[in-house]
Amino acid sequence: MQRKVLIVEDERTIAESVAARLRAEGFAVELAHDGPAGVAAAEAGDPDLVVLDIMLPGYDGLEVCRRIQARRPVPVLMLTARADENDLLVGLAVGADDYLTKPFSIRELAARVHALLRRADRAATAEAATPERIVVGDLEIDPVRRRVRRAGTEPHLTPIEFELLTKLARRPDAVFSREELVSQVWGWEGPPRTVDSHVKALRRKLGADLIRTVHGVGYALEAK
Ligand code: CA
Repeated sequence: MQRKVLIVEDERTIAESVAARLRAEGFAVELAHDGPAGVAAAEAGDPDLVVLDIMLPGYDGLEVCRRIQARRPVPVLMLTARADENDLLVGLAVGADDYLTKPFSIRELAARVHALLRRADRAATAEAATPERIVVGDLEIDPVRRRVRRAGTEPHLTPIEFELLTKLARRPDAVFSREELVSQVWGWEGPPRTVDSHVKALRRKLGADLIRTVHGVGYALEAK
């Protein structure tokens, strides 16, 4: 089945070259050139993945991401104009799964797109294979409905946060290195710092005491 990628980018030359590369790799590609058109295209087209520029006319990429993710979880690869820490953190918080800083190589972008889709496929397979609930102390994860509950709250997690939490919760108290988490949850060799911002988000949503930092190593989910 042909995968659909939506590209939301107002710089036409970038949009066109990304589109050409992805079409050459067998994807069906749709383009949108501003925020509102991006949200509309995501709703109408049901893409398998969205490549999303942050700086857009209309509303920006963060708002587009928020609106797309509120409707249906979909992998988002965000494009940022500069290595702006705030853009990056906000982007990850609103549900982007990965990001690239401009200027980027089209080849690298294509590799990230494939990695994100592989990860989404693996997650779907894992859910189908282990539909049971995961319960660790007062934390409850429902892999089928993709819901998480703790202490009476049911916060909305982004797809990547959900997978990171599930990964940790399947082996409570086991220590996972950042590198291990990046390669297994994200599916590529990325900066370990990526994990830190998602752990921060999980702590904010589910409580600071849930995930323990193991200094110099990585993270573990506390079994209580
Ligand atoms: Ca732009």
